[in-house]
Amino acid sequence: MTPSPHTPGPHTPSPGTSRRRKALIIGGGIAGPVTAIFLKRAGIDAELFEAWPYSTGIGGGLQIAPNGMHVLAEIGLADEMIERGSICESFDFHSQAGRRLGSVNRNMKQRFGQPAVNMCRTTLNEALVDKAWSDGIGVHFEKRLARIEDRPDQPIVAHFADGSSAEGDFLIGADGVHSAVRTHVIPDGPKPFNTGLIGFGGFGPRSLLDQATIGQRMVTTFGQSGFFGYGFCSSDPSDGVMWWSTQPSHGTDAATFRAMGQDQLRRHLRDFHAGWHDPIPAIIDAAENIVVTDTLDVATLPTWSRKRTLLIGDAAHATSPHAGQGASLALEDAMRLAHLMQDGLELGLTFQNFEAERRPRAEKIVAIARRNGNSKREFSAAGAWIRDRMLQWLLPVTSKGMDFMYAYDPRAA
Ligand SMILES: Cc1cc2nc3c(=O)[nH]c(=O)nc-3n(C[C@H](O)[C@H](O)[C@H](O)COP(=O)(O)OP(=O)(O)OC[C@H]3O[C@@H](n4cnc5c(N)ncnc54)[C@H](O)[C@@H]3O)c2cc1C
Repeated sequence: MTPSPHTPGPHTPSPGTSRRRKALIIGGGIAGPVTAIFLKRAGIDAELFEAWPYSTGIGGGLQIAPNGMHVLAEIGLADEMIERGSICESFDFHSQAGRRLGSVNRNMKQRFGQPAVNMCRTTLNEALVDKAWSDGIGVHFEKRLARIEDRPDQPIVAHFADGSSAEGDFLIGADGVHSAVRTHVIPDGPKPFNTGLIGFGGFGPRSLLDQATIGQRMVTTFGQSGFFGYGFCSSDPSDGVMWWSTQPSHGTDAATFRAMGQDQLRRHLRDFHAGWHDPIPAIIDAAENIVVTDTLDVATLPTWSRKRTLLIGDAAHATSPHAGQGASLALEDAMRLAHLMQDGLELGLTFQNFEAERRPRAEKIVAIARRNGNSKREFSAAGAWIRDRMLQWLLPVTSKGMDFMYAYDPRAA
């Protein structure tokens, strides 16, 4: 599985040879498996290396927007995700007291050809890894990249923390916001930026929303400080509701919150959201396995590639979750990269073309997400009142301004 660096390996094929090229892909989250699947279709072998054991450490729910669903459709997984997840028919905004402020993201399927779909991250990840496996891609767990060796006229070598290594013709860093590959590409480059907000999230039983008659809408609430959201994410009665709370971190990081234990986290959430409209208190009371995350982004990097190594997904352009686009951008990256690889250009040029095509869109969305996060910070009572009134007027306008994100079709680009 992991040949030694001295084994004759698949470095740059000589002109005229028909040996298939091989990609080493670091990261088995979203961008990694999908890139492997598309590269294989493009005639390039791929091996995938994930730091964690199979299917652990992946928490929370997420929404895949129509632009990302097009990519899932292309690899035959859109219907399965719709069946195992929950179509989201709109995003409704409320004040802390429960007054409706407006609604966005309606009729997504009609307007963009695919719906927005809520799902458990684990469900998506398992489906992607299973698909990679069934397409004959080597997927290796508990392989944490430690360093990369890229010498002229030699295969590129990925060295793992357990002492093993693997060789390929090029390497794709799909290893997320804390990317180790990024350190190889830009040794003294910028670190992920902490946006000063902290996220809590988890699941609850479907019975929690029995009285709420929310249908397939996502319900979100702006408080004087912070934000709360909930909606259906699965047909499973035991964990069919996903919820999340976003709060100013006031300098406390996720690791500190995680160390508190579940009872204390629940108490913290109860206190923070005291007096918020129903069923928020009941959702918090039922919360178990609460996941806590720092809210980071990577606004811009000086470059996305170095020699035979390229960054994609969050490793290249991590976005805070306030635009609901990070996973969809990662899916788009995977499909567009494989498309460009098919042009048969020299590797460095392909990487440059990829960056030139993807960077403006990705960085625009990272900036929008950061801006959206600002309305979840702390306001005075009067400030929150004004924000809520402004939202009522602004939502229809800003909603139109977001359509470019969903209208992007990576198959057509
Ligand atoms: C709380 C929260 C909510 C979100 N909600 C949404 C949402 O609703 N919709 C949306 O589109 N996006 C959402 N996002 C963003 C989305 O999760 C990311 O943009 C997306 O997961 C990026 O995919 P990726 O494959 O690039 O990285 P990841 O999914 O992070 O995958 C990276 C993988 O690399 C592995 N890895 C890391 N280091 C190494 C190493 N050294 N060696 C080997 N493997 C390694 C990791 O274990 C991981 O499996 C949310 C993010 C957060 C934090």
